[in-house]
Amino acid sequence: MSRGHATICSVALPIPSPRPYSYAIPPNHGAQVTRGARVVVPVRTRELVGVVLDVDTGPAEGLKPILVVPDPRPAVPEPLLELADWVAQYYVTPIGLTLRAMLPPGLWGASRLVARLIDDDVDGAGVTGAVVAALRAAGGELSASALRRRLRRPVWDSLRRLVHEGVVHLETLPPSLGPDVERVRVVVLTRTLPSLLERERMFGRAIRQREAFEAVDALGGEVGVRHLREQLGFSPSVLRGLVDRGVAQIEAREQMRDPFSGVREQLPDTPTPEQRLAIDAIGRLPSSGGAVLYGVTGSGKTLVYLEALRRQVERGSGAIVLVPEIALTPQTIARVRGVFGDTVAVLHSGLSDGERVDAWRALASGERRVAVGARSAVFAPITDLTAIILDEEHDGSYKHGEAPRYHARDVAFSRGRIQKARVVLGSATPSLETWALRERVNVIRLPNRVGARPLPAVRLVDLRHEDRVAESGPVPWSAALDEAVGRILELGEQAILLLNRRGFAHFIQCHACGHVPECPSCSISLTVHRAPAKLRCHYCGHEAPEPDACPQCAEPLHRTRGIGTQQLERWLAERFTTARLARMDADTTSRKWSHRRILDAVGRREIDLLFGTQMIAKGLDFPHVTLVGVVDADIGLHLPDFRAAERTFQLIAQVAGRAGRGVVGGRVLVQTRSPDHYALTAAAAHDFEGFAAAELEARRSPPYPPHVWLVNVLVSGPHEVDVSSAAVEVAEWLRHLIASRARDAVEVVGPAPAPLARIKRRWRWHLLLRATDRTWLGRIVRYAAWRAPHTRPGPVRVVFDRDPMSLL
Ligand code: ADP
Ligand code: ZN
Repeated sequence: MSRGHATICSVALPIPSPRPYSYAIPPNHGAQVTRGARVVVPVRTRELVGVVLDVDTGPAEGLKPILVVPDPRPAVPEPLLELADWVAQYYVTPIGLTLRAMLPPGLWGASRLVARLIDDDVDGAGVTGAVVAALRAAGGELSASALRRRLRRPVWDSLRRLVHEGVVHLETLPPSLGPDVERVRVVVLTRTLPSLLERERMFGRAIRQREAFEAVDALGGEVGVRHLREQLGFSPSVLRGLVDRGVAQIEAREQMRDPFSGVREQLPDTPTPEQRLAIDAIGRLPSSGGAVLYGVTGSGKTLVYLEALRRQVERGSGAIVLVPEIALTPQTIARVRGVFGDTVAVLHSGLSDGERVDAWRALASGERRVAVGARSAVFAPITDLTAIILDEEHDGSYKHGEAPRYHARDVAFSRGRIQKARVVLGSATPSLETWALRERVNVIRLPNRVGARPLPAVRLVDLRHEDRVAESGPVPWSAALDEAVGRILELGEQAILLLNRRGFAHFIQCHACGHVPECPSCSISLTVHRAPAKLRCHYCGHEAPEPDACPQCAEPLHRTRGIGTQQLERWLAERFTTARLARMDADTTSRKWSHRRILDAVGRREIDLLFGTQMIAKGLDFPHVTLVGVVDADIGLHLPDFRAAERTFQLIAQVAGRAGRGVVGGRVLVQTRSPDHYALTAAAAHDFEGFAAAELEARRSPPYPPHVWLVNVLVSGPHEVDVSSAAVEVAEWLRHLIASRARDAVEVVGPAPAPLARIKRRWRWHLLLRATDRTWLGRIVRYAAWRAPHTRPGPVRVVFDRDPMSLL
């Protein structure tokens, strides 16, 4: 880089090209074109926004010039550029796509650049004059693309000159909002039909109407027409049907407000002695130091994080608090706001693009100093950063699902190194990756619940032997759970019932002894395939015939198929006719804020039984929940994923942690056919460390993370034969590459069909790269990502997922 006359620059563009593009810097713009600045550049026939990575002196011949520099100061601060480099390298993603994922979408679109006339006293000749005239004619303001359309010629040269002369101001606006966003039409329910019976009577055969009613109900009683039609697929006649029946109205409403504005919750003033020690320990961390805050559920971790940050934030430093999913953690947000008030920017998915840009600028300028949000908030543009906190750090949502496939925990550590910020990972059930760090980072413990409340007693209910309620049909419902729920309802307390339905990968389980056949070389359960009828390993491809009898106890074997939350709802409604039920799963909460409505209702004790998927296991703090029931703990336990045991342990331990947080105490019933499995016995004993020791041992052979590093290479395409043969081809190519370069450091496992064999009409196969050496693995993947077969655009796609969180 040179300080003299920069003439050329390299620009990262949000397109899947491995390299930045070079452009010429127009004269007069040298000072503005610096690293981190946004620029508008021509790309073929389009104009795109990009970010300058480097400037240099040198001949600019043959390079197209930058069209315009829209911001007075660089938009991306230096530490974030360094971080982008790390993310791009580590996760093998082009720098432009990496930056696109890091910056708010509102900073990217070129068509949204608006030119505003600020000096009305000018007249010019030629194109410049025409631009001024056009702006004046339009009332002083036009988008750059509208200008070009009106004048039917390129306008950037003139605009640039006018900006330079102070005649025109350029502004990036959020994408144009259609009129139906500012005033939206919503379906509002005018009647409640709480019981299944009432709904059946009201709707009879009008199934779609009933579904629409239930969807709106579950989403809080009020949902946009557009969402119902486009996202949920209800036709206008179905919605009109609801109105005709007198159960709903269609109204025009103002756009959704920020559902978190003004929400604050005061935390207790005095930390307990245990909390005090933890706060001090975090305070003593060296800069760039890391710590695991390992505190049981209800130990008061939130207060520890916030007190540990308080002094630094009051002195003017910034901090990032990451939570798994904003919509599921309203309490944490409210508490952060309670402590840091107006210095907080909550980054949530309900923000419009414009609001997101505002939040970004407020953080970049230091006007706001504390960013709270889900995983992408790890990129909040805070320059004086004292700490990054990850609450519930074990949560799977910290991993990004598309390129760059980053994990917020690893990004946080990298950012901590760059900005000398501390990283604190909090959980009652740390991930094994985090636990494996305990030799290198401090472990700060909170072994007791606040107020010396005991952890709830957990009982494993053995479905193989326990009495079942006969009428429950396919729903596993023991007499013990039945009685416990009945008693809660009598006492007017509340219960949470977990059914984590993911019954897509059908495994075989012996109903008599609980045995599940596993792959001999991968230690994951084998999956039933129909044509040809076989058991198959979804990691290495191993095949075995489907046995008729259990190899362990010789009883006949049955395929296992999970029941879902809908069946559970039906059963609960039949069994407990007066209970007020609320279901929470991906179907009832397709709109983000509906979680909050349901949870608020639970908080107000308007719900007796809250049931649903893993969503209900997270961070909730309701003092009147005295019973937690896990309807079928085996669903997750035998998924074909090496983290199945860990996930089950976390889920059971976390959901159990929802019970008995008040003075009344609580208990937990876990129904299973594998009551001897260490994940369950450890969860029942609230013994995280015992579980971690056993699981770390189990992952030695065959080796899995954290003992080795993994890359999941996913091959997908529209035709199954092409995909399977491409997967074989890629595997062979990689084996060959590794044999010639990395020898023993990296190993290829597979290919095999992915457990989710087809998603969105694409067939999926995968193979695993397993490495003891992270550096070698990085080299192999970076080399392969652009050179392996099928990595060029085509019908078959190959994706490299480094440190995958899901192998489904
Ligand atoms: P965790 O995240 O560790 O499960 P929380 O941070 O949700 O626990 O705290 C659990 C409960 O304990 C909350 O209701 C919180 O208000 C309360 N609490 C935390 N610290 C204190 C304290 N020092 N004194 C009294 N109550 C506290
Ligand atoms: Zn296998």
